[in-house]
Amino acid sequence: MQPGETAARISGDRFVCFLLDADEERIEALFSAIRNITEENLILHFSAGVYVIKDYDENINLMVDKASVAAQTIKGVLNQHVVYYSKKFDDMTAHNEELKRDLKLAIKNDEFVAFYQPKVDINSGKLVGAEALIRWNSSALGFVNPADFIPLAEYLGLINPIGEYVMRNAALRCKYWNDMGHPEYHVNVNLSVVQLLQNDIVKKVAKVLEETRIIPQNLTLEVTESLAINDMVRMKKILSEIRNLGVRVALDDFGTGYSSLNHIREMPLDVIKIDRCFIEHLGEDDFSNAFVRMVSELANAINVRVCVEGVETKRQRDIVKKMGIRMIQGFFYGKPMKIEEFEKKYLI
Ligand code: C2E
Ligand code: MG
Ligand code: MG
Repeated sequence: MQPGETAARISGDRFVCFLLDADEERIEALFSAIRNITEENLILHFSAGVYVIKDYDENINLMVDKASVAAQTIKGVLNQHVVYYSKKFDDMTAHNEELKRDLKLAIKNDEFVAFYQPKVDINSGKLVGAEALIRWNSSALGFVNPADFIPLAEYLGLINPIGEYVMRNAALRCKYWNDMGHPEYHVNVNLSVVQLLQNDIVKKVAKVLEETRIIPQNLTLEVTESLAINDMVRMKKILSEIRNLGVRVALDDFGTGYSSLNHIREMPLDVIKIDRCFIEHLGEDDFSNAFVRMVSELANAINVRVCVEGVETKRQRDIVKKMGIRMIQGFFYGKPMKIEEFEKKYLI
């Protein structure tokens, strides 16, 4: 970089650079240098947005947001790493800004609720527990799904208060179910990467255990693999400490994203959740069948339990059952529902 230029990490895995007089050639050279880092065992995935500043009075956060909006459009696209902001993204930026304002207010106004989706023992058909899934009950937008606001909440640094609310709420409910004659019910809570990598995450989990008095073994925290590739050593340490509290750890959405069979071997795990994209085509496509069977066998061999997500039909249920899998979750047994409905159905 040249004097007067700045590079900074703003949150999670997001970085911003301010460059002076950067022409396309220089930008191309910069990113191809990153692309061409060829250390052993290192694969670098990134998406970059470039916003050319013309109005020097523009709000600096808005400039960063525009670059970020552009970058988001190529996230996950393997062969494209850089995109320039253009007028066609203006609508997305406006929508983003609106959502940001609403989301900040939502925290203030307590607009988040946890829904609960049943998890069922395939042999008995009985409930074994539930996964807490957050919804944003927005006065302006109605019920908003997590996919539409969690990435933004992470970006804005708002995921931690939201996540803690879900964990505490779920632990309290589970303690109540256990006290009401169902000591076997347990509860699952999703943790985002950003939450998991907080310095005091283990303390926060311990505090929830203490305050809610849930039996630690009845709380399972679900993490995804996308984070596992970044800092395996740190991640293993945090997960081990969480497990030392008695809390269980599940690997969510297995088979998607940056999956590696090695993660199963290396990560301290209790449960693997096979992603629903493999269940969708069970019985239709050989790969899905083989994949589910293989993961299930592998898990058995290392004493890790398997839960299958997204079972929608009896046929899928029967196939999964034949494979010897015991825990399933999916619309076939129940959609995520409000706590009142859940407890009416399962607290008898
Ligand atoms: P996930 O943890 O893999 O949750 C499963 C998702 O699949 C849920 O979507 C659920 O409604 C949906 N689902 C379950 N069974 C079926 C089925 O049979 N068919 C179909 N088509 N879908 C099914 P949802 O609730 O929209 O959540 C999406 C993702 O958002 C979750 O994926 C999780 O990664 C994230 N998420 C949800 N709640 C939280 C939270 O409190 N904190 C964090 N950090 N992430 C959360
Ligand atoms: Mg989950
Ligand atoms: Mg999942």
